[in-house]
Amino acid sequence: MQMDSKLQTVCENYARIRDNIAEAAVKSGRSPEDIAFMAVTKTVDPVLVNAAIDCGISLLGENRVQEWQSKKDAYRPGVPVDFIGALQANKVKYLIGQIRLIHSVDRMSLAQEIEKQAAKHDLTQEILLEVNIGGEETKSGAAPAEIPALLEQIGALGHVHVCGLMTIPPPTTDTRYLEAMQELFLKTREIPGADMRILSMGMSDDYADAIRFGSNLVRVGSALFGARTYR
Ligand SMILES: *Cc1c(COP(=O)(O)O)cnc(C)c1O
Repeated sequence: MQMDSKLQTVCENYARIRDNIAEAAVKSGRSPEDIAFMAVTKTVDPVLVNAAIDCGISLLGENRVQEWQSKKDAYRPGVPVDFIGALQANKVKYLIGQIRLIHSVDRMSLAQEIEKQAAKHDLTQEILLEVNIGGEETKSGAAPAEIPALLEQIGALGHVHVCGLMTIPPPTTDTRYLEAMQELFLKTREIPGADMRILSMGMSDDYADAIRFGSNLVRVGSALFGARTYR
């Protein structure tokens, strides 16, 4: 496809997804503004990312530290970027001070490295705990049973703040994993001192269902930008 028509397609996709998000929000008794719509930019040309920003996207999600570093200067300034990919401790230093929210914290050793780097910058890094809700061997994420202990341990750190949960559920139309995440999220909200505001759940194929089950941040890639081509 030519770039011009690609840009137009991104804007059309954006408008359609935004309407679907609004409809799902209203159906679940919330207001459309309560649901954040993240554009997941992996493998996507910065020209297309900027087109999405021009259409109205106000949050970007990056998966790979190196790819983000190579593209970030080409993005329109002023749009917050979240980190959503698997994260190695030795890459944390590249994110702190530049990333709004890290969605993919699933172990104490990673939280401790974030603490160390955030302290160096004299700031508090907001994070989500990633949950492996399907118990899949191939996926990262903490087991649901580990979440309360992680919350307590990270709560003792001075420069890391947990503000919710994130998940990539098993690819199925069965909504039981979404439901299990909603239950876990509601349970963690009741832990004294917890500040659980964000449930990051839902991608191109399941964002409407995810909103039904309490998600307030959906991460959409291919439905917005088209199928990814990996080089
Ligand atoms: C790639 C990715 C997405 C977006 O996936 P799509 O199915 O293309 O919408 C969302 N979240 C994470 C963590 C991803 O890696």
